[in-house]
Order: sequence, then structure tokens, then C-alpha cells
Amino acid sequence: MTALMDTYRRTDVTFARGEGSWLWDDQGRRYLDFLSGLAVTSLGHAHPVVAAAVSEAARTLLHVSNLFVTEPGEEVGSTIDRLLGGGGKVFLANSGAEANECAIKLARKWAGHDRYVVVSAYGSFHGRTLATLHATGQPAKHEAFQPLPEGFRHVAWRDLRALGRAVTAEVAAVLLEPVQGEGGIWPADSSYLAGVRGLCDERGALLMVDEVQTGLGRTGRWFGFQHYGVQPDVVTLAKALGNGVPIGACWAREEVAAAFAPGDHGSTFGGQPLAASAARATLRVMEAEDVPALAAARGAYLWQGLTALQGIASVRGLGLLLAAELVHGDAARVAERCLDRGLVVNAVTASALRFAPSLLVSEAEVDEALAILGDVLEEAA
Ligand code: PLP
Repeated sequence: MTALMDTYRRTDVTFARGEGSWLWDDQGRRYLDFLSGLAVTSLGHAHPVVAAAVSEAARTLLHVSNLFVTEPGEEVGSTIDRLLGGGGKVFLANSGAEANECAIKLARKWAGHDRYVVVSAYGSFHGRTLATLHATGQPAKHEAFQPLPEGFRHVAWRDLRALGRAVTAEVAAVLLEPVQGEGGIWPADSSYLAGVRGLCDERGALLMVDEVQTGLGRTGRWFGFQHYGVQPDVVTLAKALGNGVPIGACWAREEVAAAFAPGDHGSTFGGQPLAASAARATLRVMEAEDVPALAAARGAYLWQGLTALQGIASVRGLGLLLAAELVHGDAARVAERCLDRGLVVNAVTASALRFAPSLLVSEAEVDEALAILGDVLEEAA
């Protein structure tokens, strides 16, 4: 019996401790974590530099309001801006949905009252608040909560012609994930994002990229859009930014960010010292370790290993954000069996498993995960 609302289908496992790529349950059993809290703990569990930063922040300054400047938040903002090429400004929030809310509000303020529509793709996921739920291109998730806020339109993913028809005079922005994550790990193709950029320029709409799941090295580059040679106007981040401590960010190029004046947007907790200290430490370690290069190398290794397994029809994704399509697909059941044997993965669709291990994962750990999965698939066959 639990006092928590019934919003998640939880397993019976109770995790008690983590270190690097490993988790331990309350019975002392060890698990290899290839999900990372849904692409969050990119530096692994209990990273010593992040742990020290969190504990230091708890002992020095846990919180002041956003009416005052604090150093960790300033550094996080300038690091994110530098990684994105500079010339922008950052709003710090607490989650991916909040980062996207910020982007949607900013687009509306920038475009003016007559242009308020945000176009996004079917199959996308942008959050669970009412506005980001409507931006999420999954109509089945909308039904119970109608009427949703106005001003959202959806088009088929990777269909530039459909987007061309949808980006009319009322459209302020196009919001896309470079790799659809929750929708099943579906990367954009090589020409699509460049086409979207061209269309946005032609029609005067913003290109907003949701990097909540793909950002900060996960795909083998700092940001997923960098695989496609485009420069967005707005980028949102969360998940890996605090390596497990909740924090989100919305970056916009300076002319767009200038649309916000004091009082237009805010958050009591967004960017507060505890969360920002975790993010500052996370970003410092990510840069020192060159996590995009690690993700590219280990991702290629994992990809190769997955394609060699009997029972896997195809592999897709970028870097260390991969999905494996199963030949005889009950992915939820396979994920359950993996958990029984000490490997944490999840069914990203009914027939595909998602892999998002720590970006610091070793080849030996990848080998171990592949051995467990190979046994489970063999058994299932
Ligand atoms: N955007 C993307 C691409 C996501 O994958 C997610 C969460 O999975 C979100 C937004 C929402 O983030 P949060 O759950 O932190 O609100």
C-alpha cells in the first residue's frame, strides 16, 4: 500500500543505493543501470564531484530568492551559452516541462498577440503541464484533459511538406526534438532539420529544439541538433543537467531572449544554489571528461553488440541513446526479465527496448549488459 498517487506503473524493486553504472536494491542485489533514471544520471550514480558540490551547497547556501544573484547559477548560464556557441541568454527552471513552458511563453512574447501557435510533431514528448502536454504530439494523452490551452498544432514527424502547410501566419515557433525520445528513439533525418530551419527563416518563425533528453553529450555531440548542421533560436535542457538533482534550462539567442522583461516569467526554485551547484559540477565534469566523445565511442560499441544479438531486428538512435527493435516483440516482458537478471532497461515502445547508460560506462559494463540481454532473448526465443 502506498500513499502516492497511482500515476506510475512501478516494479516491485526498491532501489537503495547507486554508484557509477550500478544500483543496489534494499535486499543488497546489484543491477547494471542502462536507463540512468531516464537519461538523467549521465555521469553515473553518486558521482563524487557532484556529491561534494551538493553537500558543500547544503552547508553554505541552500537557497535565496531569484531577486539576488548567486555564483553557481551564473556559471551554469554562461557554460550553457558557451556550449551552444554564445550570443544567448538562459532561464533556469526545475524540469524539462518547465524549460519548455518557458520556451513557449518566450515565443509568444517575442512574436506578439497575433502569432501564438507552436507547431510540433506527432510522436513527440515535451512534458506534462497543460501547455507542454498539448505540445506533446500524442493525442491519446490529451483526451482526458480537454480542453487544453489553445495554440498548438501537430504535423507528421520528418515530413517537411506537412510542416510547410502548418507554418502559417499565426505560427510563432516550431518545437522539435532532434531525436524523438519517449516516442521511440526516432532521429531526424539528415535533411529534415535543415529544411525546417529554412522554412522557419522564410516564414519568420522560431526554431526551438527540445534537448531535454538528447542534450549534454548523450547523442555523441553536445547537442542533438549539432548532428544536422543547424542553429536553433531556442534550446531547452533538463534531465542530465543536474545529474539527478532537478534543474532545467531554456536558452535563447539574445534578440529572442530580450522579449522577456522583469516580471514576465519566474520560478521560486529555478536555478537556486543547491540545484545550480549540482549543475555547475556536472557541467565541469562533463567538459573535463569530454562526454560527447565517450558517448560516441561507447554508443558505437553498444550498437555493434546489439546488432550481433539473436532476437534483435534493428538498432536505431544516436550515441548512447539507442533503441533495439525486437524480432518477437514484447519489449515490456523482456525488460522485466532483464530486471530479474540485474539489468535495468525499459520498453520505449511495445516492441523496442531503450538503452541510455551513463556516458562514463565502460566497455566491460557494456559487455555485461549485452550478455544478460543475450541470455534473456535466447530464453524468450
Ligand atoms: N522533453 C523531452 C524531450 C523529454 O524526454 C521529457 C521527459 O521525458 C520532457 C521534455 C519533460 O521533462 P520533465 O519530465 O523533466 O518535465
